[in-house]
Amino acid sequence: MDSPLRAERSSTEFGRLAPRIVRAIWEWMVRGEAPDAPVSPWTTPAEYYASMPVELPAEGASEEALVHTVQGVLSNSVNPWTRRFLEKLYATPAVVSVLGDLVLGALNASVHVFSASPILTRVEERCVQGLCELFGYSTEADGVSMPGGAASNILAVQTALAHALGSVYRRGGVWALVESLHEKGRRGAGARPVILASAGAHFSVARAALAAGLGADAVVQVPVDAHGRMDVAALERLLREMHADAAHPRGMPLIVWVTCGTTVLGAFDDVAAIAPLCVAHGCWLHADASWGGGAIFAPEGRALMRGIERTDSLTVNPHKLLAVTHQCSFLLVRDRRTLSMRVDDAGYLFHGTPDAPDLATKTLGCGRRGEALKLYLVWLRYGTHGLCAHVQAGLAMARALLAHVEAHAALELGPLAEPLFLQICFRPRGRGSKGTRCAHAQLTGAQRYAVDFAPLPDGEYLRLVVHPATPLETYRAIIDTVAFNIN
Ligand SMILES: *Cc1c(COP(=O)(O)O)cnc(C)c1O
Repeated sequence: MDSPLRAERSSTEFGRLAPRIVRAIWEWMVRGEAPDAPVSPWTTPAEYYASMPVELPAEGASEEALVHTVQGVLSNSVNPWTRRFLEKLYATPAVVSVLGDLVLGALNASVHVFSASPILTRVEERCVQGLCELFGYSTEADGVSMPGGAASNILAVQTALAHALGSVYRRGGVWALVESLHEKGRRGAGARPVILASAGAHFSVARAALAAGLGADAVVQVPVDAHGRMDVAALERLLREMHADAAHPRGMPLIVWVTCGTTVLGAFDDVAAIAPLCVAHGCWLHADASWGGGAIFAPEGRALMRGIERTDSLTVNPHKLLAVTHQCSFLLVRDRRTLSMRVDDAGYLFHGTPDAPDLATKTLGCGRRGEALKLYLVWLRYGTHGLCAHVQAGLAMARALLAHVEAHAALELGPLAEPLFLQICFRPRGRGSKGTRCAHAQLTGAQRYAVDFAPLPDGEYLRLVVHPATPLETYRAIIDTVAFNIN
């Protein structure tokens, strides 16, 4: 008996089915672009579950049923083409990036070894090189694409440990690492290797500590100032005290983790001031620029990240600010020698040479999707100048919207990044978190806008994320809705 996957030529099946599926996607985009289209078709989990059957049949379905199912998935999903899904740090993707996903699917290549993905390897290397240049890393730098910012951050911590501690950690793990610190005179809790990160850092710092075997308690929080930036004086004090005391109850700093564009406020830690402290104290400096990193395409963004070229590693997510589809993230390192996870590598897989590298040697994983292709296509379509204009448009819009919020007496601003980035936290005046929840329920209940809220020191605020591909009027309408309709 033949496999049913052999029933006809793939090209015949694709030629028949693909136009129908592409048409369904196109129709859903068109529907999303209608001015009155809901951003989400349903408001409760129960409605979503009831919206379409998800069944696993014993017998294969007809093509009619298949197309119908795809239409169901589309029409019962959140629609980013409304440009009103503003809940997260990603929003409406670039069309060429969606098409890139289709191409990647057709290639079905894993970017683990060169022989399986020669051109995708080249594309990834070129994107890494282009990003390194923008961030001011030298030709000694390197990088790799990863499935998301958290994954890049986790790899950064592993890279820091594997490199900074050499074979001790690589072969002996955390146990050998603590032993080695004991040998250097560190005692008890003082021999605990820790990561210093600001209170505004993304939760993936704890995941990275967990994944490295250090444990989430190995993250030592550095306080932030009123604008959400790491308090550099507090960091310096901590570094000095922890190094001076071999039995310091909070441990031994190995990694300093700065954030370029925090998740709630969009704050940028002062990398230029922090980098010399890391050199003085022998710490690995990692920048989580998952969100803010995309701004490197504009001079204004580069100014926010002054000193970024002095970090040892950095994470950037083109799938956020740069409108690449999920997932597309990169971990970059200043010194290419640090980016290697080789331990007892498999002779049955890795046959790479310097001009035909096996990129999986840089990660803890094996197979990877060639997501760099999507950044490449977006970069190709808009150019460095186009992406610069994209970032600048967002920054200009954020300034205009801040003024718009300030003009409403009924609204109260939350803490803001200084300088302002792309987030504005605000809520109805005088009602605290309750006002925020009310406004949020109203916005999402009407299914017209998706906007998130976040806890801040004095309660919850709506967090408006300014995505450059969304029109200014949409944001103004959201602000006006909160100002006029609540109370
Ligand atoms: C979004 C974000 C992450 C996580 O990125 P994913 O791609 O969702 O894994 C990490 N750090 C910061 C600062 C982020 O904004």
